[in-house]
Amino acid sequence: MKPDLFEAPDYYNLDDLLTEEHKLVRDAARSWVKREVSPIIEDYAQKAEFPKQIIGGLAGIGAFGPYIPMEYGGAGLDQISYGLIMQEIERGDSGVRSTASVQSSLVMYPIWKYGNEEQRQKYLPKLASGEWMGCFGLTEPDHGSNPSAMVTNFKDKGDYYLLNGAKMWISNAPFAQVAVVWAKDEAGRIHGLIVERGMEGFTTPETHNKWSLRASATGELIFDNVKVPKENLLPNKSGLGAPLGCLDSARYGIAWGAIGAAMDCYDTALRYSKERMQFGKPIGQFQLQQKKLAEMITEITKAQLLTWRLGTLRNNNKATSAQISMAKRNNVDMAINIAREARQMLGGMGISGEYSIMRHSMNLESVITYEGTHDIHLLITGLDITGLNAFK
Ligand SMILES: Cc1cc2nc3c(=O)[nH]c(=O)nc-3n(C[C@H](O)[C@H](O)[C@H](O)COP(=O)(O)OP(=O)(O)OC[C@H]3O[C@@H](n4cnc5c(N)ncnc54)[C@H](O)[C@@H]3O)c2cc1C
Repeated sequence: MKPDLFEAPDYYNLDDLLTEEHKLVRDAARSWVKREVSPIIEDYAQKAEFPKQIIGGLAGIGAFGPYIPMEYGGAGLDQISYGLIMQEIERGDSGVRSTASVQSSLVMYPIWKYGNEEQRQKYLPKLASGEWMGCFGLTEPDHGSNPSAMVTNFKDKGDYYLLNGAKMWISNAPFAQVAVVWAKDEAGRIHGLIVERGMEGFTTPETHNKWSLRASATGELIFDNVKVPKENLLPNKSGLGAPLGCLDSARYGIAWGAIGAAMDCYDTALRYSKERMQFGKPIGQFQLQQKKLAEMITEITKAQLLTWRLGTLRNNNKATSAQISMAKRNNVDMAINIAREARQMLGGMGISGEYSIMRHSMNLESVITYEGTHDIHLLITGLDITGLNAFK
């Protein structure tokens, strides 16, 4: 891959809205991505392998539990710092950002918010340091957009819970030590259970042949009469609202992350447009190419403003789930369109692994689908503004 010459666009001087701490956190993540991710990521994506050697570095930049209190090993940062870290990681690769999002918002968050003190002490410091990696099992083979219909279930056997069922499309599953699994009790109510690798009857076969998020490991979670100790149930929240609360946190991080992928594509296309000569001129001098670049920076700037505002709302506990849906949907759509346009601007080179654009483009096909599809987020906005449910 080409050397990483990334320069972040900031057309509306958004840096002025950030604190010194925000900028320090972001700049540390940015230089780490340049140093540790950019040089290796194309190879790992080509091999369809997660680069496990970067786990310690991800922990070092605060990517595992950025907003989890320091007493549990987290970085104790605010929501804007969390977003900026996700932006910088996804600027490198959406698959790496997915690993960090799952660890923070889908594993550490539910243990922190819905777990008891023993569970927090046992799991959070090890997850924050990357000593243990986690995954989040909500989606099932027959239940994706409608997780409330899940069939994975557990029965109370006195000394333990007996867990049966299967989860599909689970990020980090092939190597995770810990899985936060959503399953129904005998009354049909959804609860979170912490399942650990090594429990009898629990397997995590890897999902192969992905054209997207190739540097992220994806797998299934199979539960065949798994005896889960009773102390592994998350006691402080149940019902569908529990996993949805985790998704709010992760979707918020995705909204920032997508900006990172878009910035990288824009920056690459801008640089290329000044260097690539055709008809005796740099292609950036042609109006059609300028239109693409001008529209890209406009959309990036709008997304940056939307997301910064969402971060301030979240810092004050005022952001609604529907506001988060809007940002996730808008920003991923923005990024995927920019990736497609940027790819065209590079002509044939646009499909090459010499540049990051095609990898971002393919990655974003997953990002636009997971954590609520593009259409599902539109229905969430529709429900929010009309009060009418179009899901069923
Ligand atoms: C790479 C990758 C990683 C993932 N990681 C995780 C993970 O870590 N943990 C996890 O639990 N899940 C994970 N997922 C699963 C992901 O969240 C689901 O794929 C997603 O929620 C969609 O579910 P589905 O694939 O079953 O599609 P479906 O729900 O079958 O949807 C198919 C299509 O129908 C549309 N649709 C569905 N219902 C409606 C409706 N009411 N009205 C209109 N249109 C509708 C959808 O928008 C979509 O276009 C991952 C997925 C991928 C691809």
